[in-house]
Amino acid sequence: MAGFSGGVHPRGCKNLVPDGVGICPEPEKVYVPLSQHIGAPAVPVVQAGERVLRGQLVAKKAEGLSANIYSPVAGTVKEIVGHITAKGKKLPHILIENDHTDESIFLPPLAEITQESVLSRIEEAGIVGMGGAGFPTAAKLNVNGRADVLVVNAAECEPYITCDNAVMLCYTAEFLAGVRHCMTACGARRAVIGIEKNKPEAIACLSSAVSGNISVKPLRTRYPQGAEKQLIRSCTGRTVPEGKLPVDAGVVVVNVHTAFSVYRAVEENLPCYERIVTVSGRAAERPQNLWVKYGTRFRGIAQYCGGREVCARIVSGGPMMGEAVFSLKECATKTVSCLLFLDETECETKISSTCIGCGKCVQACPMGLSPVFIDAAVLRKDYAEAKRCGASQCIGCGCCSYVCPANRYLVQSVKLAKKIIGERKI
Ligand code: SF4
Ligand code: SF4
Repeated sequence: MAGFSGGVHPRGCKNLVPDGVGICPEPEKVYVPLSQHIGAPAVPVVQAGERVLRGQLVAKKAEGLSANIYSPVAGTVKEIVGHITAKGKKLPHILIENDHTDESIFLPPLAEITQESVLSRIEEAGIVGMGGAGFPTAAKLNVNGRADVLVVNAAECEPYITCDNAVMLCYTAEFLAGVRHCMTACGARRAVIGIEKNKPEAIACLSSAVSGNISVKPLRTRYPQGAEKQLIRSCTGRTVPEGKLPVDAGVVVVNVHTAFSVYRAVEENLPCYERIVTVSGRAAERPQNLWVKYGTRFRGIAQYCGGREVCARIVSGGPMMGEAVFSLKECATKTVSCLLFLDETECETKISSTCIGCGKCVQACPMGLSPVFIDAAVLRKDYAEAKRCGASQCIGCGCCSYVCPANRYLVQSVKLAKKIIGERKI
């Protein structure tokens, strides 16, 4: 089966986290963001002073692409307030004071399992791509029979992150049931679970549990194996044409935790208000995977895991594609898979110098781009040239920056070009 060219092999650092999944204590207050997904922010359906139960709808999906938001705790809505988010911007959050009664409400049981009922349950439950993309899952799976294969992204190729591995090991049957429901929703005849070979326990566990039209595909351990187009090629041999979507190659891709959440919504009638988050890095005293309620501030997670507030860097997501944390007031959301507390040995500050023309960034780019030329075009503010060099196809994987001996800020440069090309419709 075809693989992909380029890529890098960073240190895995996955063994910092022990087996099993813990539970992060519920905070006194949760700040639930109205925007935890791609598309329009959800519209609040509760007011200050109102009592809510865990699992109660607190913000309804807006018209078009959007997602429902549910309360992760029982308590009282205090206010709808601007609160800091990943980009350092203040955006509306619903502030709920937890009364610790744990009173819960569930979605009504499904009368029958059909394509329509599963799709509408996924939408109702507010499930979005939990690998980091945040694309509403019902919209992704609603492909009108155009996909014959469901690819399950179990690559988890970013260093440190092990939350999907934990799902596969601790909730194997539930995860596989979720895969079947995703197949029902999109009409795929078969599913391929693509998983890097550095997870031998999960491969063995799944291989003995799958049957029929679900198969496990062990993949070479190479970053970014979990990038959508690269994964589709590795799992099916199909190529997604430039500028097209996976469904144009007859494929839909879902992430492990997303499939698991589909199981919880369909069979346990649980809306999406919590997830498993990996907390790791050498500046965390008790690295672990743990269930976290959305709206829990990062400071609460740090305190539970002994994450040092003063360390070399705190990152939300993996070290390759994640974002530096602006403030520990930021909150867990549907797309926060990992919180890293890194010490000096894990992230050196590098000084950028002039390109030496070694070509390593070109060899490493899994999209076949020439980051060195895009960077040069950006320095000249020649965005038409950056576009001609393919900047719009960049997947932001960071391989180019990772290999560059001159420490050029290549991924930042290419991302900037992509943003400006989009904004100016070049
Ligand atoms: S140019 Fe984009 S796709 Fe290519 S290596 Fe750099 S970040 Fe990855
Ligand atoms: S890897 Fe860095 S130094 Fe080498 S060609 Fe690319 S930008 Fe230049």
